[in-house]
Amino acid sequence: MATKRDYYEILGVTKSASADEIKRAYRKLAMKHHPDKHGGDDAQFKELGEAYETLKDPQKRAGYDQYGHAGAQGNPFGGGGGQQYSGGFGGTEGFDFSDILNQFMGGMGGQQRSSGPARGRDLEVGITIDFAEAVFGAEKDVTLTLDDNCDHCHGKGGEPGSAMKTCATCKGAGRVMHVQQTILGAIQQQSVCPTCHGSGQVPEKPCTVCGGVGTQRKQRTIKVKIPAGVDNGSTMRLPGKGAAPKGGGTKGDLFIAIRVRADKRYERDGTNIHSEVKLAMADAALGAEIPVETVDGEVKLKIPAGTQSGKQFRLSGRGVPRLNSSGRGDHIVHVAVETPTKMSAKQRELLEQFASEGDKKGFWKK
Ligand SMILES: [Zn+2]
Ligand SMILES: [Zn+2]
Repeated sequence: MATKRDYYEILGVTKSASADEIKRAYRKLAMKHHPDKHGGDDAQFKELGEAYETLKDPQKRAGYDQYGHAGAQGNPFGGGGGQQYSGGFGGTEGFDFSDILNQFMGGMGGQQRSSGPARGRDLEVGITIDFAEAVFGAEKDVTLTLDDNCDHCHGKGGEPGSAMKTCATCKGAGRVMHVQQTILGAIQQQSVCPTCHGSGQVPEKPCTVCGGVGTQRKQRTIKVKIPAGVDNGSTMRLPGKGAAPKGGGTKGDLFIAIRVRADKRYERDGTNIHSEVKLAMADAALGAEIPVETVDGEVKLKIPAGTQSGKQFRLSGRGVPRLNSSGRGDHIVHVAVETPTKMSAKQRELLEQFASEGDKKGFWKK
C-alpha cells in the first residue's frame, strides 16, 4: 500500500493552523488542482479533498493528530463515527462501538475530569480468538484484575449504617489547591482531594473491609460477546466495565483489543476469504467436481475442462459477515494444478503416448 501523505503537508498548513486557515488553503488549492481546469490533476484533487474532509472536522482532526491516518476514520470498524452497535446481543453486555477515539481522549490513563463525579480508570485487555470465531462471532470469558467497588460498603467507603460528614481536608470542596514554585513564579494548581477522593464527604466510620477507600482489588470474569465479522486489530468498548474510582463515582470503560489467530487454510481480506486448492493435472485438463473447504464446511466446486493453474473461482456469500451491516463477502478459491511426481509404469506410458500424440498434432512444439 502506498504511504499516504501528511494531511497538513497536502494543504500546506502547519499543525496549529486554525479552521479558517485550513479552509482558505483548501479553497486555493482546490481551484488550482480542479480536474476541469487546465493543468488540473484528478489524483491531487482527490487527495486534497480527503485531507480537508479530515482536518475541517475537529473530532477527526484530533483523531488524526493522535493516531495518524488510521485515527482519522473515527471508528475503527469503519463506516463513519457515531454508530451504535448495541442490541441484538441478548443483553449480555451493552456494546457501544461509537467513536472509540473520543473515549480514549476522554478518560484514558485514569485522567480525572476537571468537574463532575469521579470516574474510574479505563482498562484494556487483549483477547485472542480463532479465525472461525471472528467470522461467526463468539462468546468469550475475559478474566481481569481490577479495582472494583468494595462488596462491604458498595463503594461508598463508610461502614454500612455510618453517617457521612464533610471532609476536613477540603472542607467539602472535593479539591485542594497547591502552590507550586516555578521559574516563572508561583503557580496555583488544583487537584483531587486525597482524603475524600473528590466527593467532599467522608464516612464517620470508615469501612472495615476497604479502610474507607471504597474499592477492592478483585479478579472478575466477564462474558464478552464478540460480534460476527470482527477483524484482527479491532477494539470493542464495554462502557462501565472498567475500574471503579476511589471514593465512589462512575466506573471507567473496558476496551477489548481483539487478535485473530491465523488459520493456515484461509487468508482473510476484509470480508473475503481466500484459499488454495490443489488440482490433479488430469482433473484440470478434463474437468471435475472437487470438494473445497470453506468456513461453512465442505462445498462442491465444478472445475471446467481446461482449467489453468492460478485460475480463481468465486463462492459467493461464503466469506465473512459484514460488521454493522448485512450480507457476507465471498470465498475465492485459487487453483494450483499439481504435476505428478510419482507415476506407475502404465501412467508414464500413457503420458508419453499423450505427449507424442501432442507432438504430432503440434500442441506442444510449434
Ligand atoms: Zn468498603
Ligand atoms: Zn476532601
